Amino acid sequence: METLHTTLLIIGGGPGGYVAGIRAGQLNVPTILVEGASPGGTCLNIGCIPSKALIHAADEFCKARSYAAETSPLGITGSEPRIDLERTVAWKDGIVKKLTGGVGALLKKNGVKLVEGWATILDGKTVEVRQEGDAEASVRIRCEHMLLAAGSVPVELPFMPFGGPVISSTEALSPSGVPQRLVVVGAGYIGLELGTAYRKLGAQVTVVEAADRILPAYDADLVKPVAAALGRLGVELRLGTSVLGMDGSNVRVRDASGVEALLEADCVLVAVGRKPRTTGWGLENLMLDMDGRAIKVDNQCRTSMRNVWAIGDLAGEPMLAHRAMAQGEMVAEIVSGKRRHFEPAAIPAVCFTDPEIVVVGMSPLDADKAGIEIVTANFPFSANGRAMTIESTDGFVRVVARKSDHRIIGWQAVGGAVSELAAGFTQSIELGAQLEDIAGTIHAHPTLGEAVQEAALRALGHALHI
Ligand SMILES: Cc1cc2nc3c(=O)[nH]c(=O)nc-3n(C[C@H](O)[C@H](O)[C@H](O)COP(=O)(O)OP(=O)(O)OC[C@H]3O[C@@H](n4cnc5c(N)ncnc54)[C@H](O)[C@@H]3O)c2cc1C
Repeated sequence: METLHTTLLIIGGGPGGYVAGIRAGQLNVPTILVEGASPGGTCLNIGCIPSKALIHAADEFCKARSYAAETSPLGITGSEPRIDLERTVAWKDGIVKKLTGGVGALLKKNGVKLVEGWATILDGKTVEVRQEGDAEASVRIRCEHMLLAAGSVPVELPFMPFGGPVISSTEALSPSGVPQRLVVVGAGYIGLELGTAYRKLGAQVTVVEAADRILPAYDADLVKPVAAALGRLGVELRLGTSVLGMDGSNVRVRDASGVEALLEADCVLVAVGRKPRTTGWGLENLMLDMDGRAIKVDNQCRTSMRNVWAIGDLAGEPMLAHRAMAQGEMVAEIVSGKRRHFEPAAIPAVCFTDPEIVVVGMSPLDADKAGIEIVTANFPFSANGRAMTIESTDGFVRVVARKSDHRIIGWQAVGGAVSELAAGFTQSIELGAQLEDIAGTIHAHPTLGEAVQEAALRALGHALHI
């Protein structure tokens, strides 16, 4: 068997692994990246990008249907629209292909060798790579540094395994048709993003959630406009309800008072979370320290074994593509000899629900728990001109700042298109901005960004437009 030698070996070509590869290549670190499926990982192939494509297609279809129903206040009417899902999926696949092809090209441009196949770890410096379907490994790779970036997999319910009508987000992103009745198990961001899209495509959607509200990880005020919009769309929410399993083609559930019911379903999307991919590739041979289900790392993404690093979903929460990328870039720089630490002031998180939610840094509740005295203020989109013109006045921007020096420690927003505010929010926290900095910055009119400035002004006691 051929043996390759390299300085940096990256296992997994998702956002964490491929960004590490590009940066290592830029810094002239000899690098090999092993990827078993497709470059771009979960994010580009079966996660962030395809889900946003499907959400966009569903939005457009839903809008066109409102024109046909003559319910649009804009005065637009039209004839009954149809959707050819095969073309929709082909369009989505085209975007994925363009992006994953781009990743391959960037790795090549930066001199990173891409080895296609599944890596099995033999020891902290050696892996063997097997092509899909082959029993024997075809190549052995020895390295000085091993970067583990194998990502995560969807959590399966043991009493409701994936297969047949029970699907994960992966299958939900390549539909061959719209099910008449879809039950979504889990009201986290993946379940709600996809459940909303399917509702807009015409399915009857029921969301079952064990907690007593949707998006349990987000604060109640932020979630209210999303819950209201789901109600208007006709998505049925069964909160405080546990799934017990399949009963024929029905889903058996039990509510908080112990009453059982059967929900008719043509398809069941299980979206109860993701877990680090820690089995099936020899990781146990390294006997690394773990942090729950994830690999334990320090603030440089070092594991408990020298020169073995772990990043992204494999290294636990928050399981977000941009965090994986930032960690990958950092590890490449450390391996090249630079001094770096992973200590971001804040990592933004976005739910691409309708309306969208963005959170960065601390909420008032987080600050309270941390014993920080704060000033906080909301500015509602109902008082923002741009929001009115895009028919999205439900929601608000909230700022959280330290009382002592007005330094901003958190932003939250809910509303149409607020995901685009995440950049400014995160920059202001990373740069150590105070309320006065944001209040004194001229924001373009008419934009949603004016609500950001107004929230800061309001926290200072002199908002102008409310
Ligand atoms: C439906 C959905 C929507 C999402 N939306 C968003 C979003 O909007 N924003 C966001 O920030 N995040 C989103 N995420 C999460 C995001 O996709 C992940 O946080 C991100 O992909 C993690 O990157 P990673 O590099 O750690 O791992 P991954 O992207 O999971 O990549 C790991 C790669 O390693 C490969 N691999 C694993 N084991 C081996 C092996 N032994 N040998 C060779 N290759 C191997 C896998 O094939 C995979 O390509 C979403 C996820 C899903 C499922």
